[in-house]
Amino acid sequence: MLAMALEKPGSRLVGVHRPRPEPGPGQVMVEVLACGVCRTDLHVVDGDLNEPELPIIPGHEIVGRVAAVGQGVDRFETGQRVGVPWLGWSCGKCSYCQSGRENLCSKARYTGYQIDGGYAEFAVADQRYCFPIPEQYSDAEAAPLLCAGLIGHRSYRMAGDGERLGLYGFGAAAHIVVQVAIYEGRKVFAFTRPGDSAAQAFAREMGAVWAGSSDELPPEELDAAIIFAPVGALLPAALKVTARGGTVVCAGIHMSDIPSFPYRILWEERTVRSVANLTRRDAEEFLTLAPRVPVRTHVQIYDLKQANEALAALRQGRLRGAAVLVPDK
Ligand SMILES: [Zn+2]
Ligand SMILES: [Zn+2]
Repeated sequence: MLAMALEKPGSRLVGVHRPRPEPGPGQVMVEVLACGVCRTDLHVVDGDLNEPELPIIPGHEIVGRVAAVGQGVDRFETGQRVGVPWLGWSCGKCSYCQSGRENLCSKARYTGYQIDGGYAEFAVADQRYCFPIPEQYSDAEAAPLLCAGLIGHRSYRMAGDGERLGLYGFGAAAHIVVQVAIYEGRKVFAFTRPGDSAAQAFAREMGAVWAGSSDELPPEELDAAIIFAPVGALLPAALKVTARGGTVVCAGIHMSDIPSFPYRILWEERTVRSVANLTRRDAEEFLTLAPRVPVRTHVQIYDLKQANEALAALRQGRLRGAAVLVPDK
């Protein structure tokens, strides 16, 4: 099979030919139909995240069709369409795993980071961490639901029930969260890189009541904000426009350093928190909710061989919605 692999952080992915992976006990082997490109992949490629098992095939928003099953697989059958997300395995025994917080398991292994992912024609995954894909989505449209959707939704729930929600960075996750927020009757304020009028127009099109630059003041205070962009300076900027008792959620896996800020912008019971990874429960909840809203995803399709070009477009902020890799058939 063809795969795009990272051999050394800081370098381009290289096309490699590998034998098709065999499913071990409890694993499914899927033919990759589509795989989303997530900002986390950029952090792996750039070396911001330093525990990859090299060489690694990135990609953790896999929509695949089960091509073979290993011993003991009982959740899926050959031919079924499944999604494979970022959380690829957790220990099941530690206090986090036992209290519904497997996203914090210190032994957890992640798809496209320690387990070969979906930038390939085939992949294997532990059946316990895979999910059926709602029927109404095409392969490419479903891919961004698996990380931008799931972790976006976890971040959204951590932001609380306030009516006025700010989103910093209007990429794949924000374009999904805005739809759920509007469905639940909230007002969304979108913040982009200064001067990114294309992203601001996209945010308005998706229903944001206001869109502007991250250094602008929104017309109203926010009850909560979610920071998707990996820029630490956005944290004090978001706190400054968040109302008393409000919450600022850092949704990314990596962020540049946060500059120091005066205590008064945190005071009055504002909360700052991060969100890490996902649990299987998040996936079940979100994949049930998404078709109800219904969440629609905007995707830009690239051939698998163009993975480096897709990553470059994400890095440069040139995408509208999410990039998705599709192997050439
Ligand atoms: Zn554990
Ligand atoms: Zn991701």
